[in-house]
Amino acid sequence: MKKDGHIHSPFCPHGTKDKMVNYVEEAIKLGFDEISFTEHAPLPNGFVDTTPTEDSAMRMVELKEYLIEVEKLKIDYKKKIKVNVGLEIDFIEGFEEETKCFLNEYGPKLDDSILSVHFLKNGSRYDCVDYSPDLFNQMISDYGSIDQIYKKYFETLKLSIQANLGNYKPKRIGHMTLIKKFHKKFPSNQSFEKEIFDLLTLVKEKEYELDYNGAGTAKPLCRETYPPEWVIKQAKKLQIPLVYGSDAHQVKELNQGRDSICIP
Ligand SMILES: [Zn+2]
Ligand SMILES: [Zn+2]
Repeated sequence: MKKDGHIHSPFCPHGTKDKMVNYVEEAIKLGFDEISFTEHAPLPNGFVDTTPTEDSAMRMVELKEYLIEVEKLKIDYKKKIKVNVGLEIDFIEGFEEETKCFLNEYGPKLDDSILSVHFLKNGSRYDCVDYSPDLFNQMISDYGSIDQIYKKYFETLKLSIQANLGNYKPKRIGHMTLIKKFHKKFPSNQSFEKEIFDLLTLVKEKEYELDYNGAGTAKPLCRETYPPEWVIKQAKKLQIPLVYGSDAHQVKELNQGRDSICIP
């Protein structure tokens, strides 16, 4: 079975206006049996998006329409492809209760979702780790070193896996090495193998899945999957379910990185 478990939509403010129906049609052409739309869920109540363009996630007022549109596609295409309604939920340290509230309300409407870390808490402020090399560079000054940012990222991932977000907490951990998006420009000194392997053990214990994300392969400063192959090897050893995700923000990004991945 060929699945893409991580697709965005025109509801994404930093994406494109490519229509959802065109994503579905293209996915069918590419031979997918199942796809999940996982738009960035509205950020938790009270959290202020710290990116310069403030466009990290869908607006709350659009959520209802998004859910209706995916539901409609699900029905229209059910004979050709399985379309799941989902969201990519941000895990934001300090906003666990708000996130749980959101999930309690909207979780029952979702088939397949992802839990991702994009923001790191640094004292009273939050930084988006994958916004731009410039912002990442600024973070290096704030944190003191690249390794310190990586350390915080993996600690936050750990919190996300352990967090009690209620019965509708997503079962899949998004792009677990997103912190490497700019690694060719800003390499860490350490491999963080221990931290990463410990995270995998935790994912296994919780019976979660991993988003095996192809988007990094298309990023010039990354050029590898999230996570890379050496992590995938260990995940396979632990028999953690891996779900390919294109993380497409436009139709032509469907299938991206799929030739770099190896799913049994
Ligand atoms: Zn996005
Ligand atoms: Zn993401």
